[in-house]
Amino acid sequence: LVGAGPGDPDLLTRKAERLIATADIVFHDALVGPGVLALVPPSVELVSVGKRSGRHSKDQRTIDALIVEAALVGRRVVRLKGGDPSIFGRSSEELEACHAVHICPGITAASAAAADLGLSLTLRGTARRLTFVTAHTKRGGVPPLDWAALADPQATLAVYMGKAAAPHVSAGLIAAGLAPDTPVALVENASLPKGSQFRTRLDLLPIAAKTALGDGPALFLIGAAVAEPNASSSLETRERLSREDISSFAAH
Ligand code: SAH
Repeated sequence: LVGAGPGDPDLLTRKAERLIATADIVFHDALVGPGVLALVPPSVELVSVGKRSGRHSKDQRTIDALIVEAALVGRRVVRLKGGDPSIFGRSSEELEACHAVHICPGITAASAAAADLGLSLTLRGTARRLTFVTAHTKRGGVPPLDWAALADPQATLAVYMGKAAAPHVSAGLIAAGLAPDTPVALVENASLPKGSQFRTRLDLLPIAAKTALGDGPALFLIGAAVAEPNASSSLETRERLSREDISSFAAH
């Protein structure tokens, strides 16, 4: 069970790359980016078992069965999942289906989103808690979240799969006491060249989720840590450090 990271192939671990290169067969999600899939050698069989809301392909049981079947005939199986497999990766079903599983962690989307925004998810004295939460239920609809527990002004909230539930997230947190002007960042396609970031405030999150996001994977970061950086860590300077600068720096 291998974490593929947020999309940028450079954010794959060396271990993940090695496991992919030496596999017999790789089963991957729709979330695993093309850059990562390009690292799978042509000799390795590549099977998409992608699930993205709306476009359902294979159900969980079929995926489990395919994995087990391949392993039982002695093939080296890699199950490649977006981000970190232990975070909203529905890994438990697949772990249960198999007896011997090795897990290779990956960089989760919240880390990549924070990096794209150039900020820290935790802030000494301001954001002492970091919560990963999903606002997605199996059948769609409103997730039964404990808003009172989530509405902590000293926390950073990373909301995965929150697009459809954005109005509930905003209303739930404000009703539970979080300030309507709490900073929010929406990050789509984190770590990828087509990535985009949008900053807003909690009460405007529903409209921002509707208008600022395309159909890529997106994450919300909510809390004081997400506030615009102060003058000393000039955003402009960081923006001038474009992706090209960084890759040419990395190449040296
Ligand atoms: N295991 C994954 C999360 C799977 S749930 C991880 O650790 O990142 C899928 C959700 O993750 C998406 O709906 C989105 O909210 C988030 N996500 C995954 N990749 C992302 C990316 N590149 N940019 C923004 N959000 C992403």
